[in-house]
Order: sequence, then structure tokens, then C-alpha cells
Amino acid sequence: MNGIVVVGAGQAGFQLGASLRESGYAGPVTLVGEEPGLPYGRPPLSKAYMLGKTDAPGLSLRPEAYFAEHRLIVRAGERAVAIDRAARRLRLASGEALAYDHLVLATGSRNRPLPVPGAGLAGVYQLRTLAEADALKAALAGARAVAVVGAGFIGLEFAAICAQKGISITVIEGLDRPLGRSVSSTMAALIEASHVASGTRFLFGSAVAGLVGPDRVRAVALADGREVAADLVLVGIGVLPNDDLAKAAALRVENGIAVDAMLATADPAISAIGDCASFPSVHADGARVRIESVQNAVDGARCVATRLTGRPAAFTAVPWFWSDQGPLKLQIAGLCQPHDLAVRRGDPEQGGVSVFCYRGGRLAGVESLNRPADHMIARRLLQAGRSPMPDQAADPGFDIKALALS
Ligand code: FAD
Ligand code: NAP
Repeated sequence: MNGIVVVGAGQAGFQLGASLRESGYAGPVTLVGEEPGLPYGRPPLSKAYMLGKTDAPGLSLRPEAYFAEHRLIVRAGERAVAIDRAARRLRLASGEALAYDHLVLATGSRNRPLPVPGAGLAGVYQLRTLAEADALKAALAGARAVAVVGAGFIGLEFAAICAQKGISITVIEGLDRPLGRSVSSTMAALIEASHVASGTRFLFGSAVAGLVGPDRVRAVALADGREVAADLVLVGIGVLPNDDLAKAAALRVENGIAVDAMLATADPAISAIGDCASFPSVHADGARVRIESVQNAVDGARCVATRLTGRPAAFTAVPWFWSDQGPLKLQIAGLCQPHDLAVRRGDPEQGGVSVFCYRGGRLAGVESLNRPADHMIARRLLQAGRSPMPDQAADPGFDIKALALS
């Protein structure tokens, strides 16, 4: 028996190994990961770790002893470079080949590069790995004026940290609002207002033409000729799926490694999970989606582990997300984009607000700002396929919890 080999020892790869053991799989399990060290979680990198509230060991998904106890072999610092599908072998950069019965691709995603002159200057950072977080954190300690390119999750979480530290912070975004890909315009406006109140300056509708040196960055040049002075620049303009291994092995790639509703590729011996995989989702009316979140990595891994231990089922877990930005706790249940109707429940001035997003007359998702109870209710509603009427959702007197539990 060759066992199960996983490429990527991140959130999804680790969970696959753990869930295989929970499901009773007794064969060999090997996680091949190109980063050094044990599998760790990324969310604190832009939150508690950046603030110095947790250290590197605190990021580990499990202590070292867990891997020995559960016979999970972690090949850290090893890069997989090719898949020989006919021979069912995975080739590593070292030249070694690992035979597999089943191969799981959990290769995650990588930072999208900023395609402008000066992107490689000293003082310009991106944030994906622990190593990148360490470099950024060290630079932040001496920074006086920070510019962030991209008002996505990374940009806003980092902006909140800069504001908390009293460092001048400007966020530059091509669109006309923050989190354009991720939240409704109603929620975006609330989030923007809170950041502005904390001292963050936004430049929307602004294209970056270049970063100005000569050696260390001193400004961001905008396409309209303006310059934003900065001695530290963080580029947070999204990610690209790591699907090159799959592509080279002639597996289908469509915004990531294309898998079916059970997260299987067309090769019965290969599955894909996490940030790198796109799959048809019942929560998007069957459309193919690629989701970048811890929940998607964890639940996708559980789904594949269950299938590999003899209980195949489609991946139908409700997607959910969270983001901590200073005083804001944003939580999203379901896939809200696109939606054709959004209604508000609650009041940001009085303990928080939720936005219920509807698509085709049914609840598609709920965005909650400092209203964690609504988030939990929304997950239950979506899992059960229940949809309150929009006027019920907006009515503070309507018992939405009772509907979720009914
Ligand atoms: P990853 O965790 O990225 O793991 C993939 C691993 O595969 C990497 O270690 C990579 O080096 C390795 N790999 C790739 N190719 C190869 C190869 N050929 N050979 C060997 N190894 C390879 N999500 C949330 O839901 N909430 C949050 O608050 C949140 N905060 C985040 C904060 C930051 C700073 C970042 C960067 C992400 C955050 N995310 C958050 C997103 C979340 O961390 C990812 O969606 C999640 O890590 C995806 O898991 P994954 O296993 O698919 O990918
Ligand atoms: P993101 O959330 O996708 O946001 C990227 C933002 O940058 C988008 O608003 C995007 O706009 C904008 N952008 C793209 N190209 C640009 C350009 N050339 N100039 C200016 N703006 C540009 O990605 P991210 O914030 O970089 O985060 C990276 C990854 O980490 C993602 O997978 C994210 O989910 C994850 N992450 C998650 C969390 C969380 O869930 N709490 C926290 C941190 C990181 P367009 O939409 O127009 O492209």
C-alpha cells in the first residue's frame, strides 16, 4: 500500500491528514509542503501575530507530537514538481518520487504580483507566508507612513493595525469601494466609514502606475500623476491559484484545479481542495466557484477524507468567512455575490448590523458586522435551506432565530 500523498501542508492539507485519521484510515499519509516547519494557520498573520499578541509556535495547527501520534509524515521544505499520473508517482524537486494510491492537491494560492515598475523595491511587501509576515512586522516597527495597494481583506486588516499603532495609513484601490469582490455596497460603506473614523485615508478609483525609489520605496505613483508618500508599501491585490502542477499533468484547470461536486478531478486517483480548487457549489446555484477561506479548506478536506474512507458525498457545507479589523468583526455566511436585493437588520450605532442578501428571491447570504448571533443564525438558515422574507429579515421584532431552529 502506497497510501495517500498530499501536496501542500497548509490549512487544507493538514486537515485532510487529520480527518483521514479521524475517519479511521490506517494507511500511510504524507504531506509534502514547500514551506519550512509544521503546518500553521494564516489568519493571525494579519491580525494577532502582526500585533505581537501571538508568537510563531502559537500559529501551529497542532504541536509536533500530534503528527507522530497520528502517523502523519510531514515532508517540510520539499517542493513537488511533477505528477506522473500513469505510474501514480509524485516527483519532488530533490529528484525523489513518492508513489501514491491517491493524491490530494492542496497547493493553495500565491500573491498576485503588482505589474508596475518599482514593485521590487526595498520597503515593498506582500503577505501570504509566515516568512513574509516576519519581514513585514519588522518593517512596520520603523514605519512612519504606510500605503496599502488593494482594499481587500489583507489591506483592511493591515490598515486597522497601522491605525491602531498611530501610523499614517493610505489605502489605494482601483474600485470605488472596499471589499468590492466580497461584500455588498451597504456593508462596504459601513466598513469604509469605520476605517475613516479610525484615521485611514482611502483613495478609490486610483490605479497605481509605479512605485518610486530609487532603491527604497519613497512613494506610490498614481496613474493620474499624484504621488502618495510612503516608506512602507503593502501590496494586497488578491491571489492566484497554484494550479501549475495540475495543468502540467493535463488535468482540467478553470480558475483553479477543476473538480466535481465531490472535489474529485477526472483522474480517479486525484482530488483537489482549498484555495487551489474550483468546484460547482449548491450555494451558487451550481456555478463553479473557487473560495479562499479557512472554512472552505477545512470542510473540503473533511469531504474528501470521508469519500476516501468509503462514504462519498457532495461538498455542500455552507461557506462562511470572518475578518477582524480593529473594532470591526465582519462575518459572512453563504455566497452573497451577486445579489439582487439587500436588506439591513440592526443598527451599527446600537450593537451592530447585518445585511441579508437575496438572489432570485431566496436568501443567498448574510453579512454581519459586530452581530455574531445573526451570523450563527444565518449559517443555520442556509444549511436548512430556509429563507426569511426580506421584510421579516429587516423587522427587528421578527424572531429569526425561531425560524432557523424550526
Ligand atoms: P494554504 O494554507 O496556502 O496552503 C498551501 C500550501 O501548499 C502552502 O504552504 C504552499 O507553500 C504549499 N505548496 C504549494 N505548491 C506546492 C508544491 N508544488 N509543493 C509543495 N508544497 C506546495 N481565511 C479566513 O477564512 N479567515 C481569515 O481571517 C483569513 N485570514 C487570512 C490572513 C492572511 C494573512 C492570509 C494570507 C490568508 C487568510 N485567510 C483567511 C485565507 C486562508 O488562510 C486560506 O484560504 C487558507 O490558508 C487556504 O488553505 P489551503 O490549504 O488551500 O492553502
Ligand atoms: P482580496 O480580498 O481578493 O482583495 C484584493 C483587492 O485588491 C480587491 O479589492 C481588488 O480589486 C484589489 N486590486 C486588485 N488589483 C489591484 C490593483 N492593481 N490596484 C489596486 N487594487 C487592486 O485579496 P487580499 O486582500 O490580497 O487577500 C489575499 C488572500 O488572503 C485572499 O485569499 C484572501 O481571502 C485572504 N485573506 C483573507 C482574510 C479574511 O478572510 N479575513 C484576511 C486576509 C487575507 P478587484 O476586485 O477589482 O480585483
